[in-house]
Amino acid sequence: MTTQAQILDIVRDLQKRLGMSILLITHDLGVVADLADRVVVMYAGAKVEDAEVHRLYAAPRHPYTAGLLRALPHGGRRTGGGAERLAEIPGLVPVLRAPLDACAFAPRCPRSLEQCHKAAPVLEEMGPDHRVACFNPEPLPGTSS
Ligand code: SF4
Repeated sequence: MTTQAQILDIVRDLQKRLGMSILLITHDLGVVADLADRVVVMYAGAKVEDAEVHRLYAAPRHPYTAGLLRALPHGGRRTGGGAERLAEIPGLVPVLRAPLDACAFAPRCPRSLEQCHKAAPVLEEMGPDHRVACFNPEPLPGTSS
């Protein structure tokens, strides 16, 4: 963690001094929150959500993004023994031998509908500067669906 923090400081310093853009590819959503302005979430080789970082963390709309955020340590729940049990996304990633004619996340998705198994959703505008590929996105905070 110390080495990671030092490397991120170097990256941040370079970005500031040289005025450059950084493309960061990672599974570590903590690093993303710390460093990124914009996030593109990918699943099975396709973009599923694209938004400004604060908007994405405050209101993830794709069920995969929401699952990733629930799996972060601070989102976990305490068990009786005091150990933290993290949320998980059940199932496995699909085998990509051929293009899918359904949502790639459907077998693992808690919000899947019949249509999710018959067609692949495409990225659509679902709010200011927020695009999501999903037939049944997560509700906005404070709403229900
Ligand atoms: S399109 Fe359907 S299966 Fe795919 S993520 Fe959205 S709700 Fe889930």
